[in-house]
Amino acid sequence: MTGTSAKHNCVGFAAHDSKGHLVPFEFSRRPVGDDDVSFKIEFCGICHSDLHQIKNEWKGSKYPMVPGHELVGIVDKVGSKVTNFKVGQKVGVGCIVNSCRKCESCQKDEENYCESMIGTYNGTDKDGSPTYGGYSSYVVVNEKYVLHVPDNLDFAATAPLLCAGITTYSPMRYYGMDKPGKTFGVVGLGGLGHMAVQFGKAFGMHVIVFSTSPNKKEEALKGLGADEFVVTKDEEAMKAYKNKVDYILDTVSAKHPLAPYLNVLKPDGKLILVGMPPEAMEFAPAGIVLSRKLIGGSMIGGIKETQEMLDFCGKHDITCKIEKIPMDYVNTAMDRLVKNDVKYRFVLDVAKTMEKAVQSSKEE
Ligand code: NAP
Ligand code: ZN
Ligand code: ZN
Repeated sequence: MTGTSAKHNCVGFAAHDSKGHLVPFEFSRRPVGDDDVSFKIEFCGICHSDLHQIKNEWKGSKYPMVPGHELVGIVDKVGSKVTNFKVGQKVGVGCIVNSCRKCESCQKDEENYCESMIGTYNGTDKDGSPTYGGYSSYVVVNEKYVLHVPDNLDFAATAPLLCAGITTYSPMRYYGMDKPGKTFGVVGLGGLGHMAVQFGKAFGMHVIVFSTSPNKKEEALKGLGADEFVVTKDEEAMKAYKNKVDYILDTVSAKHPLAPYLNVLKPDGKLILVGMPPEAMEFAPAGIVLSRKLIGGSMIGGIKETQEMLDFCGKHDITCKIEKIPMDYVNTAMDRLVKNDVKYRFVLDVAKTMEKAVQSSKEE
């Protein structure tokens, strides 16, 4: 494999402490088991969760950490019992690489809520070894957790569907925020938010973006098809939306007040959180009690629903708006993500640029 020593078969970029600086890191993936699919990683998206985790913002980070849970690539080996995948196919893996397969959540195809879910990185595999994510040359995953990626979509631009896509699609379906003609607010136009806008339009809703970034307005309206764009710092503009919105999906990565969004919801409106700022957030009970509003949450989605979402994207020609970057740009990309300076997802060009990035880092 690319740039590895005789001892190890895989190379990636890892953070070694909560400074979160990523450097080349060699490690070994397990041999391909009977039920495993191995694939060479072509592209991997950079999720804001990667940033939270390399910096230990949620606590519980384990180092060395190879982040990345939006990976796509081409199958190069399959185990003897694999039935659903063939060498040469385009595949992807999201946030989940295993689960117990017995609990109520697993039985309902909601492995994302399994207490024994194994994360693609920062997890502990069944054999006790750490899991390492998609900022790496290849991966070996049990076929149950591997997805088919539609052939008709730009490959790099499908990678972030594996997290940003399913994380927005799943709550929209589960909470019924998919009804044509309803008004759907998206708070935060980042990786997750820009997917929610596209799903909202595909479901036939009237989509309003609530954003802190006036410079995203034109693209939101013209490029993503949003119907309205509200700059949330403008209190007067926010007041004009009182009681106007049926549902809101909140994708914001930093602590922020919830009251302004409860205020724009109609009675019986739903405010669903998917963003995960590390800090606690407050709201006054009256904000939901007085007009039967609901605050809910949602985490990624199960494997079956992730495949459904990918197929939906293939059918409706939905992909992510990305900035494709080489591996040696990864730390700069993280710095830019902190500053909210990306439209709307960085995607690492892993296969083409890993070797050079490892080499140039050795020469530094
Ligand atoms: P992102 O691309 O950085 O987008 C976050 C957006 O939030 C920004 O684009 C910005 O939008 C807004 N924002 C940032 N700082 C803000 C602040 N201080 N006040 C108000 N708005 C602010 O991040 P992402 O990858 O979409 O992830 C968003 C969050 O979801 C992260 O916390 C991530 O960990 C979490 N997440 C959760 C799940 C899940 O399963 N629930 C899955 C993936 C990610 P504007 O410029 O439009 O204001
Ligand atoms: Zn993610
Ligand atoms: Zn389970």
